[in-house]
Amino acid sequence: MNRAPTTSPTDGTPYSSAGGSERQAASVLPLKNWVLLLDNHNPKLFWASLQTESSGLNTLSAAVLDELQEILDYLDQVHAVGLIIASGKDSGFVAGADIEEFKSLTTRDEAIALVRRGWTLFNRLAAVRYPTLALIEGVCLGGGLELSLACRYRIAVDTPGTRLGLPEVLLGIVPAWGGMRRLPRLIGPQAALNMMLTGKSLDARGAKQIGIVDLAAPPRVMHNSARGLILSGRPAARASGMKAVMNWGLMRPFVAHTARKQLARQVRRDQYPAPYALIDLWQKTDGDALQVEEILDGIVRSPTASNLVRVFFLQERLKGFGKTAAEGAAPLNHIHVVGAGTMGGDIAAWCALRGLRVTLQDQGIDRLQPALARAGNLFAKRLRDPYARRAAQDRLIPDPDGKGVSHADLILEAIVEDLSAKHSLLRDIEKIARPDAIIASNTSSLRIEDLRLVMQRPQRLVGIHFFNPVALMPLVEVVQAEGIDPGVMHRALQFVRRIDKLPLPVKSAPGFLVNAVLAPYMLAAMRKVDAGMSPHEIDQALIDFGMPMGPLTLADTVGLDVALAAGRSLAAAQPTGASNGRASQAGINTSNDGADTALVSVVPCCLQSRVEAGHLGKKTSQGFYTWKDGKATGPGSLPRVHQRPVSDTAQALALELVAPLVARAQELVASGLVADADLADAGVIFGTGFPPFRGGL
Ligand code: NAD
Repeated sequence: MNRAPTTSPTDGTPYSSAGGSERQAASVLPLKNWVLLLDNHNPKLFWASLQTESSGLNTLSAAVLDELQEILDYLDQVHAVGLIIASGKDSGFVAGADIEEFKSLTTRDEAIALVRRGWTLFNRLAAVRYPTLALIEGVCLGGGLELSLACRYRIAVDTPGTRLGLPEVLLGIVPAWGGMRRLPRLIGPQAALNMMLTGKSLDARGAKQIGIVDLAAPPRVMHNSARGLILSGRPAARASGMKAVMNWGLMRPFVAHTARKQLARQVRRDQYPAPYALIDLWQKTDGDALQVEEILDGIVRSPTASNLVRVFFLQERLKGFGKTAAEGAAPLNHIHVVGAGTMGGDIAAWCALRGLRVTLQDQGIDRLQPALARAGNLFAKRLRDPYARRAAQDRLIPDPDGKGVSHADLILEAIVEDLSAKHSLLRDIEKIARPDAIIASNTSSLRIEDLRLVMQRPQRLVGIHFFNPVALMPLVEVVQAEGIDPGVMHRALQFVRRIDKLPLPVKSAPGFLVNAVLAPYMLAAMRKVDAGMSPHEIDQALIDFGMPMGPLTLADTVGLDVALAAGRSLAAAQPTGASNGRASQAGINTSNDGADTALVSVVPCCLQSRVEAGHLGKKTSQGFYTWKDGKATGPGSLPRVHQRPVSDTAQALALELVAPLVARAQELVASGLVADADLADAGVIFGTGFPPFRGGL
């Protein structure tokens, strides 16, 4: 998908068709990161194609912006009639500002200078007398979209990889290079604030629908479309009617007030200051952050921003596992899933959504129906285009007889958590699977070493452990038992990236990383219930700490029977002293005189009694909470995000409950379960929702 010159007969070559270094040589200006070429049909129309020297993805470093300045100087001199900005790389348009530069900021002056550089340059670009156009294919995020917004026109190329968005708040910063001003002026402040506050991105058609781009063009006509639009003389698009009125200085406080109110329900200002600052800056300065340097500096150099940037790099590291593995390995196109229950059904649907051919097997078609219905809902929610929905549905093939096993590249078992059932299945699978196929298990608590005992080639079994709900949880643990074929491990990592999840390589051990650290944390919370504290008070303390849900809500959601079984299996795998040691580290009373096994000492009464009474949580409408229509009701209903200060007692309680989680993670890092502490942080953040603004454990 090289966006640089094409010789497509339907599209007409826009400019010199030379490639790579030849194009660099043909550039009108000697630049390192840009290639500036003349259009073949119009001698004063220029194409600036960005292909940054230092990174695979285009980013807007100081050097890139300085060269853009040179380009603008030159175009002034030669009286250009137009400038089209495109990417010369297959990997997308522009991923954003150079985060490495952002990471190295130490002083206020440096922070202000970085913002001023982009703000001033993009204002200059917006003010040039000739028309400008951004031809966007692939990712166009952050500074990349701000660059495009400074152009008179924008075309988004309608390919699956095209995404436009301003996700700065996810890094704890704000779109200060003009995005906060230009996006509200283009599409109206409500839609713009919604995009900027959530950090969500849009595909080409979504961007056209909302008015961010003038055109969503198919790739084959993109160059001609760009040439036609830039010379069309059309006025630049801008918000009209009420959308324009809402940008007026007098109206901004009303819009800002509503946005603040909605935001206050989602995140605390003291934990995530950037989205609040964004609203304040838009309201007070119409998006010119440099007018209020204290706010800007307070955001850019805040601990939250550096923590969120750290989380960004942790995420990139997880993504990297899938990339390295991709080299030289055959692509995985067909996955066969056995077991269409809660997990298998949703894993199959997710894989079909992400473009894989999926055969889904269970014990009869009636067992498959609910999974197919849930898949239909997922496709309807995620895919706007009816043809794409249809195609996803066609990729998910019900296969009650398991015919897919013999063709699949990867076979994943997600049947009931029972060793002998899994043994018999794995034996059958191995008999008919292709010799090069990967065999994987989604087990939560069984040892890979035990599962593979019945296999002829045990080194081909890998754990691929998804989390529930599959569509929402980004992390997948990829579990390697001793002696695994390294090729199998690599391809499993590659598979997880292929379906757009974050792979975390872990060694085989009870509970792997995520469940192993969650268990002592949930246990500590239950001990507090045993001691007379209300579930609401405990969960509220953890919500205030920044967790996405409290530990007792989590237990109700997972199912108390499942929590009990998982606790038992983890406890059985632990030496007696270990669990008591962890509990006492958390200040939990573990005195249990007659108890000589770890299991007895770890099952809290509140859990045991509820399970015995059949109160298993959300699924039976009764657990630590009373549930109705998926929500906890009554006086002890679910805790919420509040903006009020957190009491010292609540803070101390949260720290006390998180302590066993941290301690367990430290033990696991020390045991080599994950390669280092950074990976434990990544696993805990993306697998448990541990507050990203804290940057890790
Ligand atoms: P489930 O009970 O919802 O589904 C299991 C399915 O497997 C059922 O539909 C059953 O009919 C089918 N099945 C059983 N034996 C079979 C066989 N021999 N051939 C074909 N189909 C068979 O279970 P689940 O919650 O989806 O869990 C499945 C696996 O995923 C377990 O190993 C579990 O430990 C693991 N897991 C579960 C969760 C979770 O939150 N539920 C999370 C991560 C991993």
